[in-house]
Amino acid sequence: MTDHSTCHDCTYFDTKEEKDGDRGLCRFNPPTFLTEKDKFAHWPIVADNDWCGHFEEQKSA
Ligand code: SF4
Repeated sequence: MTDHSTCHDCTYFDTKEEKDGDRGLCRFNPPTFLTEKDKFAHWPIVADNDWCGHFEEQKSA
């Protein structure tokens, strides 16, 4: 088993617009269009216990 820092503590994790409990937007990359019919691009929605190799620790205010 490996130990990873999770999205919850990542500087790119944004919960301001995602009100669904433990989920948030990952803002590491620009938003992308999921289908040709989309009028707006989307950021990936991730769970706070997800992780990826781009993790960057939040800076304290
Ligand atoms: S997916 Fe990666 S970059 Fe995005 S919030 Fe989670 S750890 Fe950070």
